This record gives sequence, structure tokens and C-alpha cells, in this order.
Amino acid sequence: MNPASTNRLIRSLFLLTVAASTHAADLRVSTDFEGGSAKVESIDQAARVIRFMPDGNPQRGWSCWWYLRVDGVAKDERLTLDLAASDRPTRNNGQDTSKPLASIWAMPARATFSTDGKTWQHTAPGKKQDARILYEVTGTGGPLWIAWGPPFTPRDTDALLAEVEKQLPAAKSFELARTREGRPVRGLRVSEATTPNPPGIWVHARQHAWESGSCWVARGFTEWLAGDDADAKWLRTHAEVFVVPIMDVDNAATGNGGKEANPRDHNRDWDDHPVYPEVAAAQQRLRTLVKENRLAVFLDLHNPGPGDPTFFFVLEPQFLKEPMIAQCNRFVELAYGRISKIKPLIPMSNRPKTTGASYHPLWRNMSANWVCVNGNPDTVSLCLETIWNYENSTTTGYRAVGQHLGRATADYLRERASAVPRP
Ligand SMILES: [Zn+2]
Repeated sequence: MNPASTNRLIRSLFLLTVAASTHAADLRVSTDFEGGSAKVESIDQAARVIRFMPDGNPQRGWSCWWYLRVDGVAKDERLTLDLAASDRPTRNNGQDTSKPLASIWAMPARATFSTDGKTWQHTAPGKKQDARILYEVTGTGGPLWIAWGPPFTPRDTDALLAEVEKQLPAAKSFELARTREGRPVRGLRVSEATTPNPPGIWVHARQHAWESGSCWVARGFTEWLAGDDADAKWLRTHAEVFVVPIMDVDNAATGNGGKEANPRDHNRDWDDHPVYPEVAAAQQRLRTLVKENRLAVFLDLHNPGPGDPTFFFVLEPQFLKEPMIAQCNRFVELAYGRISKIKPLIPMSNRPKTTGASYHPLWRNMSANWVCVNGNPDTVSLCLETIWNYENSTTTGYRAVGQHLGRATADYLRERASAVPRP
């Protein structure tokens, strides 16, 4: 080979190497993991755009939840996630409808993403384009996980319970039930009370599987309860606290929405013949606390509609008697006093919304209402809806709500303990 052709060969090899190193890898989407859900419509490898929609089965609840992993995004490369709403007819008010769910439920202003599958942050606000929304994420060279909101799956429950049990000898995990599909529904009992039959506190989240933020509120409550805060120590020594971070484990594990599932969802299942074993098991434990005249506080954690701030749901007053009404009002006041001062702000309404016949045909079967009807005369039973479509609705924001809800619970019990002895 003469020197000129050697040079040409070297130059061609160099150009080939450069081309190979700048040619982006193919984008690959996967959802075959706990909580994963996305139906890919198309992938534009050249423009680096993934078009997709949530893949939940409407018979298993509103298909607004989505959660996918993307591989093949180079460091500093921009990826566009172009989301449409699910096109499958949804269920509502306990019935099949012929229309898909309104797109706003699937389209937070900011999506949530992670580069390690553990820590979650918001994307910049998505850009609305006709019926779709476009979110952008910048690659790190490794996999990216992108979701409707910060994921929390049964594996996260296991990790949380293990962490708290290690930290606090008075914390003990328990299996509430096995789901219809055989998965364990796990919870935590925390008490350092020295007197028999202390007031019972029950907190559970995620009766609606798409509402992942509610789990992070439960996590914030749990971490606070097990920590060094003086109010948390007081609560542990004066109460017996139960926390169940995920009630609808089957739908949280399979990436389905849960709400309005067929035949009914977890928070429409609270009657004498529940469909779900975990609801029956929770009722049984709550009935025991009621029988011992010590069910003090019951909290059911949710995320509300896309335009709603944080608020409590209360049962319409005509269904309640004193002292329950006054005790509920006082708890709401204390919780508002705490949560509304969180920095950065988590907007909260100090006016609870009411549930009753006009809210849902199965209103009697909602857990907080069931507890009002079946509780002790002074049981506080409430549903807390924490804002999700907001810039501070992050894992940090949700956990802060949980901590402050814990503080409000301690405030409330302390005040009640110093009042006139109960009948
Ligand atoms: Zn809900």
C-alpha cells in the first residue's frame, strides 16, 4: 500500500470511528417491573421522541397512571416524552362508560423522573400540544425512569418497614392480609405506651392505586413517627399507631389505576361484605379498637382532582353526632395549622369538602365514612387529599405533609388527654 492510500485508509477509519461514537443508540422502552405501565404508540429514533399513553386496564381502575423505563439516551441528550391519554373507555360511578377518562388526570403539569430508580424529581413543565403533552428529560448515559408522579411500590413498603424496624425497637411490621392475587399487604405497628389500651391511630394510603403521592405522605408520617422529634416520641409513648402504606397492592404492583375498578374500588368497599381481603382485615382490626373504646384517629390518604389543593373530606354533618363533630373539626383545625405552614408551600384549604349521598352512590362504603358510622362516639375519621398537580408536590413536599400530619395528631391527642376524662 502506498503512503497516499495508507493515509486515505487511516482517514476513513477515523471518520468511521467518529460516526460510530456520535450515532445515538436506539431508544428502548420497558415497563416489565413493579408498577410499570405505558402503551408505546411509536418511537422516533431520529428525533428522539417516544409517543405513548397509559396502559392500565379500565376494569382495574382509571388508566391515568404511567411509569416507564427508557434505555439508550446518551449523556446530555434530550429525550421527548409525548403523552396522550388512554383511549380506552373508562368506568365511573361504579359503571362502564363509553368514553375515555378526561386527559387531565394522566397529565401532570410536570412529570417525575429518576436516573437511579430511587430518587425522584420533577421535569420542567410539559408543553401542551392539542390533546397531548410533551415532557423533556436530559440523559445521563444510563437508564431513565419517568412516571406520572413519584412511584411507590410494594418493594418500597418493604424497604420502609425494614428501615423503621431497624431504627426503632418499638416498631413491628405485620401482614394485614393477602390480596386476591396473593400479594402481602404489609403495615407497621408502633407503640412505646406503658399503659394498657392506649388510644389507637390508624393511617393507611393508596386505596386508589394511581394516587402514588399518598404513599409518600404515609412515608413522611412513618419516618417522623420513628424519629427523634419530641412530639413523635410523645405520640409513641401515648398511643398505638398503625400505618399501612399501600392498601391496593395488586393494582399498585401491576401499574393499574384502581379507582372505579370493577366491581368496585377499595374506597367503595367498606360494607359488611368487602370484596378485598385487605379491607376486611382492616375492618376487623378497627372493630377491635372500637370494642376496646380506643379508636382515636383514622386517616385515609389520597390525592385529589387535578385542580384541587390539599383538603380534608368530612362526612356531611347530618350523619354525625357530637362529640364526633367537634373532635373532627378540632383535628382539621390543628392539621391545617401545621400543614399550611410548610415551606415550600403545599396549598391547603381550611374548608373541608363533604361527602354524602351527593358525592358518590356508594358514599356509605368509603372507609372514613364507614369508620364514622362504626367508630367510637369521639373517633376522628377523615380522608386527607394532598395536592398533586403542583410544583411542590414532590417526594419532599409529600413527606413534609406526612410529618405535619403526625405533629397534628400528637397535638390533638395531647389536647384530648389534658381535657376532662372520657366517659
Ligand atoms: Zn382517592
